[in-house]
Amino acid sequence: MPSVQLYDTTLRDGAQREGISFSVVDKLHIAQKLDELGIHFIEGGWPGSNPKDVEFFKKAPGLALTHSVLVAFGSTRRPKAKAETDANLRALAGAGVKVVTIVGKSSELQVTQVLETTLDENLNMIADSIGYLRAKGLTVFFDAEHFFDGFKVNSDYALRSLVVAAEAGANCLILCDTNGGALPDEITSAVEAARKLTNVPLGIHAHNDSELAVANTLVAVNAGVSQIQGTINGYGERCGNTNLCSIIPVLKLKLGVECVTDAQLAKLTEVAHYISELANLIPDASLPYVGSSAFSHKAGLHVSGLARWAESYQHIDPSRVGNQPKVLVSELSGKGNIIYKAKELGVDLPPSGKEAQKLVEQVKLLESRGFQYDNAEASFSLLVHRAKPDYQPPFELVDFMVVVEKRRRPPTRKSTGEMLSEAIVKVKVGTEVMHTAAEGKGPVNALDEALRKALLEFYPSLAQVRLVDYKVRILEESVGTESQVRVLIESSDGVEEWRTVGSSANIIEASWLALADGLEYWLLKQKASNIPVKSGTE
Ligand SMILES: [Zn+2]
Repeated sequence: MPSVQLYDTTLRDGAQREGISFSVVDKLHIAQKLDELGIHFIEGGWPGSNPKDVEFFKKAPGLALTHSVLVAFGSTRRPKAKAETDANLRALAGAGVKVVTIVGKSSELQVTQVLETTLDENLNMIADSIGYLRAKGLTVFFDAEHFFDGFKVNSDYALRSLVVAAEAGANCLILCDTNGGALPDEITSAVEAARKLTNVPLGIHAHNDSELAVANTLVAVNAGVSQIQGTINGYGERCGNTNLCSIIPVLKLKLGVECVTDAQLAKLTEVAHYISELANLIPDASLPYVGSSAFSHKAGLHVSGLARWAESYQHIDPSRVGNQPKVLVSELSGKGNIIYKAKELGVDLPPSGKEAQKLVEQVKLLESRGFQYDNAEASFSLLVHRAKPDYQPPFELVDFMVVVEKRRRPPTRKSTGEMLSEAIVKVKVGTEVMHTAAEGKGPVNALDEALRKALLEFYPSLAQVRLVDYKVRILEESVGTESQVRVLIESSDGVEEWRTVGSSANIIEASWLALADGLEYWLLKQKASNIPVKSGTE
């Protein structure tokens, strides 16, 4: 079986998808997750193109990557210029990584029509740029842009660009179907032609404009390619890139290519969902392998078949990719799932008891109101704890009021500018009722401040909890400003992160629910680990 290395470009090519804008923190989290999945190379971004990517590479050494190698991306030098003085190449060399990928042109028409330089100068650009980076001691991957389109028009020139890159010292030559228009047969013959020409390892970078990115990647592997480029969930410009969440299980489970370990493969669904949350995109339920519907069964016949023989209506065992079969509209399976999840959280719910049933009904009710617990484990954990008859919440909301005011003249306070947001919160801790007010940069910030002000008196250690991310999703876009909104909040105490969810037709209420859950969860965790917190009931 061929050996294959996985190269993820979610953070660069994937982020080109409309609607995706990863923060630097998002990018660092994603890199960490890709490492857990066993990705060999993670393309972090283009340090020569924007300050966000520069910051990412500055902070990346703080990541505890155990498996993945970080890669910086850039392009060949400009025409008629020197590699040594090219700002983009210098940024690449200074990115603090050991591996870089540079993209250069392989298609005659792209050189003459788009780059507007001569065919020879383009080859010089490739050779100089690779030579410069190799001389800096870097491993260099060469992305041969428009290789397959170029091969159709002028195969000699397309292949020549590869030979030039190989002679300049490139460590891998990646053949790109940049426009996503190639067919599997064309991929096979072009890869075979390249294979005959050089011993330098080859790679494939395919786009999905013809819905063939995974198929094209697969035939390229069969033709001798060893590096596979792609993105999680197939994110990317236009119709996306090769979906690593599909190609990885195809290679491992169908072809026996050991590109990741069994344990890493079992994280696939988790990683796919995690990254879609950070991308603020609804996970596509019907994605193969990782979609929540990929192994769902609705028909009674299928369900009864599955009960007799698990493989009767499934092409693989879903647990191999960390997914699970889902039996729709089945009370029993819902209960089973909840009992299972509660057990994971250390709470035993007897299957025949009232608690489990109550919880199932509550989850169903809340999910119908827009809550979703897949990516808000902290809120789910609170639901489970609240179902226990002896649960005592660390605080309870009595009421809150938020005022947002726009003033004609800016007030003198530096931080508020023309908009003023103020929140008044009444919370009960034990038998005491606290009444606090705070201003903030916006209504949610004001609420957060007021709530903390009230709780810090009782739980001083809450000072270390911060809100690190706040995302709002409109659930029914068609009804405009009347839509139900879901708020997802990520909090951190500097050691761990946890997420909570709130949903309401009112964005402030949705935010409040998620905020309050974020603090309650942490207090609960502290209590469980016996860290003393001053309590209002003492
Ligand atoms: Zn691309």
